[in-house]
Amino acid sequence: MPSLRETVVTLCFRSSFGIVQFADNVLEIFQKSRQLKPWAKEAGGQLFCRFAEGKVLVEWATRPGQGDKRSRYFFWPNRPKEQKDINGQFEQGLHYIGDWHTHPEPIPKPSGEDIGKMQAIYRESIHSLKYMILVVVGREKIPEGLWVGFIFRKSTVKATPLIE
Ligand SMILES: [Zn+2]
Repeated sequence: MPSLRETVVTLCFRSSFGIVQFADNVLEIFQKSRQLKPWAKEAGGQLFCRFAEGKVLVEWATRPGQGDKRSRYFFWPNRPKEQKDINGQFEQGLHYIGDWHTHPEPIPKPSGEDIGKMQAIYRESIHSLKYMILVVVGREKIPEGLWVGFIFRKSTVKATPLIE
């Protein structure tokens, strides 16, 4: 079986606030989690990154685990496990930068609730980030099927794929 590594390469998204680069293993997780079957449930997790010159490099994404509540239109993570993951990844030099989840629509759009939750996380957690990242994974192939946004205290800026 051909590895996805050959077909999906690192991908960048850009807004006026900066560039977010997704590593291929993260893209692979998004790709495999797409809700292609009618019975497929929403999936999601957290995004972890390193900071580089003018770029956020998203190098790791967690996947649904025990204690998450899932349905086709709903994903509610296990918050205590999330905090453990944040602490564990931090020891590896990776910073929590945001969340991702799937939608059963081809070209996804975050709901008002999705945005509201992420802005609340930005406001209520202790960090020194200029922004957080929200990713919604639709059924269409990447990059068309990815919605990527920069999340601030009270605003959101959609990013676009950067084709080099
Ligand atoms: Zn959603």
